[in-house]
Amino acid sequence: TPLIQVDHLTKRYETSADATPVLKDISLTINSGEFVAIMGPSGSGKSTFMNILGCLDTPTDGKYTLNNRDVSQMNVDELAQLRNQTIGFVFQGFNLLKRVAAVDNVALPLLYAGIGKAERNQRATELLEQTGLGRFTQSLPNQLSGGQQQRVAIARALANQPKLILADEPTGNLDTQTGSEVMDIFTRLNKEQGITIILVTHEADIAHYAHRLVKFVDGKIVHDGGVQAA
Ligand code: ADP
Ligand code: ADP
Repeated sequence: TPLIQVDHLTKRYETSADATPVLKDISLTINSGEFVAIMGPSGSGKSTFMNILGCLDTPTDGKYTLNNRDVSQMNVDELAQLRNQTIGFVFQGFNLLKRVAAVDNVALPLLYAGIGKAERNQRATELLEQTGLGRFTQSLPNQLSGGQQQRVAIARALANQPKLILADEPTGNLDTQTGSEVMDIFTRLNKEQGITIILVTHEADIAHYAHRLVKFVDGKIVHDGGVQAA
């Protein structure tokens, strides 16, 4: 079943009236349970596309449907609610709060969701155990390696039981070995929990963990299919 439907999507930043669009008439469908890699040169529109998929930005033209909801028709509050209920984000730079223990970083989305302290703690601890960090619940980010910090960030992304994980260069700051450990976690979440994964990468080896490759050049999709083309 389709989780994401993008129809004739165009994005133009409002910096100048005649600016050429950075996304040009993009259409694609991503089904629940897919594992998709997005590649393309710098400036080709990958981040813009991810921001729209993540309901952080809206299309200029065209339609975006996420989990059967027409995103183009939503106001800011509705977008935020859909985002929090549906999507977990993972970033290249981990984006953890520096002065806050791992367990409390992971519990943050649960705090925003209004869940009480005891339940937050219990669920955040379980999520850290799932990503192999059960012994590090009280560690601060700077006491953890890059790979461990990214695993805290993945645990945080899982807090609201998302259908979709959007990951922008999640291995970009990690060495090859650590990067493959992080990719093994995404693979497991995709296989065992059916979570849809969409990740941006510059590395062919990382794209090969996915089942589908979408390549952007100059705001257009130039490949949508097998990952062997990475
Ligand atoms: P990628 O992620 O593939 O590097 P981006 O989506 O970041 O590509 O950028 C696509 C194009 O849009 C680039 O030309 C970039 O300069 C431009 N762009 C990105 N963000 C903005 C913005 N907030 N305002 C104006 N132009 C932007
Ligand atoms: P970049 O790849 O541009 O260096 P990131 O991968 O860290 O940056 O972030 C990708 C996008 O997600 C950015 O456009 C940023 O505005 C947005 N973003 C960053 N942090 C958060 C956050 N905590 N919650 C939601 N969106 C974020």
